[in-house]
Amino acid sequence: MEKKFIVVTGGVMSGVGKGVATASIGKILQEYGYKTTAIKIDPYINIDAGTLRPTEHGEVWVTADGGEIDQDLGNYERFLGQEIPRANNITTGQIYKAIIEKERRGDFLGETVQFIPHVPNEIKNRILESSKDYDITLIEIGGTIGDYENIPFLFAVKSLEREFGEGNFVHVLITYLPIPSHINEMKTKPTQTAIRLLTESGIFPDVILCRAKEPLDDVRRRKIETYANISKDYVISAPDIKKSIYSIPLNFEKEDLGIKILNKLNLKPLKVPDWSKWKFLVDNIENPKKSIKIAIVGKYLDIGNYTLKDSYMSINEALTHAAAQFSTELEIEWIDSKTFEKHPESIENLKEYKGIIVPGGFGESGVEGKIKAINFARVNKIPYLGLCYGLQLAIVEFARNVCGMKDAHTTEVSKSTNFPVIDIMPDQKKIKSKGGTMRLGAYACILKEGSKIYNLYKELGRIEEDKLKLNNLNENTLGNCKGDLILEKHRHRYEVNPKFINELEKNGMVFSGYHERKDGTRLMEFIEIGDNFLATQSHPEFTSSLLKPNPLFYGFVKACIG
Ligand code: GLN
Repeated sequence: MEKKFIVVTGGVMSGVGKGVATASIGKILQEYGYKTTAIKIDPYINIDAGTLRPTEHGEVWVTADGGEIDQDLGNYERFLGQEIPRANNITTGQIYKAIIEKERRGDFLGETVQFIPHVPNEIKNRILESSKDYDITLIEIGGTIGDYENIPFLFAVKSLEREFGEGNFVHVLITYLPIPSHINEMKTKPTQTAIRLLTESGIFPDVILCRAKEPLDDVRRRKIETYANISKDYVISAPDIKKSIYSIPLNFEKEDLGIKILNKLNLKPLKVPDWSKWKFLVDNIENPKKSIKIAIVGKYLDIGNYTLKDSYMSINEALTHAAAQFSTELEIEWIDSKTFEKHPESIENLKEYKGIIVPGGFGESGVEGKIKAINFARVNKIPYLGLCYGLQLAIVEFARNVCGMKDAHTTEVSKSTNFPVIDIMPDQKKIKSKGGTMRLGAYACILKEGSKIYNLYKELGRIEEDKLKLNNLNENTLGNCKGDLILEKHRHRYEVNPKFINELEKNGMVFSGYHERKDGTRLMEFIEIGDNFLATQSHPEFTSSLLKPNPLFYGFVKACIG
């Protein structure tokens, strides 16, 4: 089969759900039987998102192969249910770095290295490399049409289109139609401008997805039809969703978007889509039978209300996936841990919640408040889920309050503690530069048979599923791990200090999983206390999808429901 590409661009403004729309189109094409992948282009100069603060671009997503990436790759994985490698995120910084390195090596054999053709060529090579094993590749171009920094990428896709033929390309423009409150009328003008800007780059949209608060009416559909010179069947209405982003592919399919795109690509469906399980789960999310409140205790002061959800997108989604299994709605309250430092009595408010999460984090800000919240969860037997820093601080709490190590701490916060129960990993000590230097990506983990966490991974089929991936792992990821293994992704510099494990175990903490490195050192990956206090050094929120919730989130939500 000839290679097919779908290029997704955005008009008018960012933040209208281009990533989710791209992921939804991918999911639809997958349902029609095509091997589909997606590439995200970020026109910034950063090499990756690892050094970006989450308030800039939302959460930093981690790929199994250790990339720190734009959050859209997370949406692709969640919708497509497949791993997307780091190479599927292309930034301007990567392109220029690669070209300059080639130039320094002398690879250009005396040529003058120029914007055209070298930059588009490098972009094209990367797109082709990522699309190698797939029938259809979606290419989402970040930013908005008209941005200067988009230009080289538009050039590159245009040039690919010439090489592969127009019949193998579909251009999707995602635009936004505002309804200004003072006139209360949906305006198409910004969309017309976006279409014009796109055509100036020689790209003519085949499909226009019209994001708006309301559905598109016929008058406006026709206006866009005339302006863009495409049949109005290809002007798709994409109004705000009621509740769940997972309803988006279903909504697109109501307008037969999948078949329309396949037609443009000269493809026939390879199978009849089966949306039954997906629909069932979306219905559970949209019409839940019950609702429970849970608290996520973190440091939020400098984040602000608007970016909060984006900064913790994967945790939100992983909770949604788990809750959908139980037809339960989770009312998530984001609690700033510093409140418990300033007003110690307010810790009692946590009684209202059916479960408490402490997510990943860095630095000392709000740490004592988080430790207080963990203590409250443990003592009052409120289900607890600790993610990365949430495991490390759970160990600090337990060491201080159960094992009598009064000033126990992580050396990330206190260098002078007598009980450094969490300490920097030896190989991290000499690292100075920040980008891409943490312990990143998937690592194999040996779970303790019979532990609560082992049982959860077994119940949700992850041991069987992860086994299939083991053959393709590099030796670092696998280490010396053998037997029933699972894989979770990581992003940290500190670890449980092995010197204290015995003492913690003696006092009742169960270490339910570890990774063993090639050199024989063991890194603790999971802990549990009793039935409903679970924590992990990894980020299980990065391996959860609607159809396959992550076992830890599943176990946590189940415990919260009680
Ligand atoms: N700051 C901790 C570390 O680097 C935890 C990191 C995290 O929560 N992602 O180990």
